[in-house]
Amino acid sequence: SSVAELDAALVDCRACPRLVEWRERVAREKRAAYRDEEYWGRPVPGIGPADASLLVVGLAPAAHGGNRTGRMFTGDRSGDVLFAALHAVGLTNQPTAVHRDDGLTLHGVRITAPVHCAPPDNKPTPAERDTCSGWLRAELALLRPRAVVALGGFGWQALLPVLGSVGWTIPRPRPVFGHGARVELAGPWPLQLFGSYHVSQQNTFTGRLTPAMLEDVLRAAAEAAGA
Ligand code: SF4
Repeated sequence: SSVAELDAALVDCRACPRLVEWRERVAREKRAAYRDEEYWGRPVPGIGPADASLLVVGLAPAAHGGNRTGRMFTGDRSGDVLFAALHAVGLTNQPTAVHRDDGLTLHGVRITAPVHCAPPDNKPTPAERDTCSGWLRAELALLRPRAVVALGGFGWQALLPVLGSVGWTIPRPRPVFGHGARVELAGPWPLQLFGSYHVSQQNTFTGRLTPAMLEDVLRAAAEAAGA
């Protein structure tokens, strides 16, 4: 199977009843406000080339961002910050991501999430994270990235057990998430895990995460990945 086949299968997933109900209800209720576009309201697959050596793992699609546009981090404030930083370090052809057909191209990097459906309050439950982890496991196995950036503690916590389940040695005590955290893991192929604060408005509006801080992590991870 290929990454494209994985993405095609993912968009039909209905494994989490609460998230299916929520993503579809938001789409129904908001469709009128976005009459000129198709309001996605389905699982949002990862984006980026199938041979990317760097994987960025967020949290979950935003109700009116990825859940609306059908593309990760596209059409919301978090994405504005992320794509500006990716462009600044040479990983995209443009600094913005507005809608699915805006000409965005990613170079050597793929962006995904441990939970592929928009959750209420941006808070998936641990059970939903575990249910969705099979998709992340499959994506990792197909992509074989050499570096992974966890955007936020949720992505970090989701990644460690997934990596552990496919043959990585997770040090004990478990590596602690933090901005700038960097861990080399032993497993089926050499992989470095990086931590960055999430690009949420809560972090970027308060200056907890600045564009320079994010660019530093992305640059180091891209270098480690050879992206
Ligand atoms: Fe399926 Fe993941 Fe969406 Fe749950 S969150 S319905 S497992 S795609």
